[in-house]
Amino acid sequence: MPAVTNKRSVGGWLQGLSALLCCVWGVSAAAQSFPLKDKPITLVVPFTAGGPTDRLARDMAEALRKPLGGVTIVVENVLGAGGAIATHKVAKAAPDGHTLLIHHIGMATMPSLVRKLNFQVETDFTYLGMIHEVPMTIVARPTLEATDYKQLTAWIAKNKDRVNLGNAGVGSASHLCGLLWQASLRTEMASIPYKGVSMAITDLMGGQIDLLCDQTTNTMAYIESNKVKAYAVTSAKRLALPALSPLPTMQELGVKGFQVSIWHGVYAPKGLSPQVQAKWHTALRAVLTDPTFVKKQEALGALMITDKRTEPDEHRKFVMSEIAKWSPIIKAAGVYAD
Ligand code: ASP
Repeated sequence: MPAVTNKRSVGGWLQGLSALLCCVWGVSAAAQSFPLKDKPITLVVPFTAGGPTDRLARDMAEALRKPLGGVTIVVENVLGAGGAIATHKVAKAAPDGHTLLIHHIGMATMPSLVRKLNFQVETDFTYLGMIHEVPMTIVARPTLEATDYKQLTAWIAKNKDRVNLGNAGVGSASHLCGLLWQASLRTEMASIPYKGVSMAITDLMGGQIDLLCDQTTNTMAYIESNKVKAYAVTSAKRLALPALSPLPTMQELGVKGFQVSIWHGVYAPKGLSPQVQAKWHTALRAVLTDPTFVKKQEALGALMITDKRTEPDEHRKFVMSEIAKWSPIIKAAGVYAD
């Protein structure tokens, strides 16, 4: 009997060793061969095509092609729940570096805005680095009669039972901006949720909705061509771009503490190997220094992130600090979704 036990344990030991070797070989082979030539890279976007997050992802897909050796990169729009469905999808994907999430400030506001999330922002992701920050603008349908912010607030007060405000769903940046704005005005507006602001801005131009607060990377072209009316920008200082420089900051308009900048970052599922994480980091650095990519983003009012938040650890620390920053503000506003 003891001999049998011994045989088994030697067999088990050998089996364990071969499993370990196989696993170590598997991981390093995967890291060395990343990106796999026969598997496309999928950039998951939590909102509709044509919106600011989608545009960033598509510009990145173009800029990443060269640093990743010409691999096929696809953008997948996974819609719903203000970004939570896409985020969950990436949290559960294989951590092989081929599925990434491009998301914005929603990563930090979702945990406070949405009560039930089926993922943990803190622990379910490998952080890869941040890309850029974008201020927001308060815009209205072109037929709205108010010509400046003062007139706009008077119009809202007069029409308070029928004013509506679009957004990209609970937990989205436009939702957050809308909440802060309503809190500053001490008024409530009917919320019209979409699955991304590309659809909201189409309806704004058509006069189906009254107001929207959204990133300059989405609104600028429409402001420039007078397809929407613009009233204010949410940055600390006025923006230098000709189409946006006439817009006052909320601070200038006497609205204290209303400053929102929508930052964007890149995430892989947790468990990404350090080798693949390093390869992604190098590829993202190449994007951040690609003059065509940078010029395109800056022309739409985005500010490229060039500080330590492009490093995975600092990106993670920043998201944690933003969760801590926004949680009391959102709680004080008393808004959640189930
Ligand atoms: N900018 C949108 C938001 O409000 C989402 C989108 O990119 O469509 O969060």
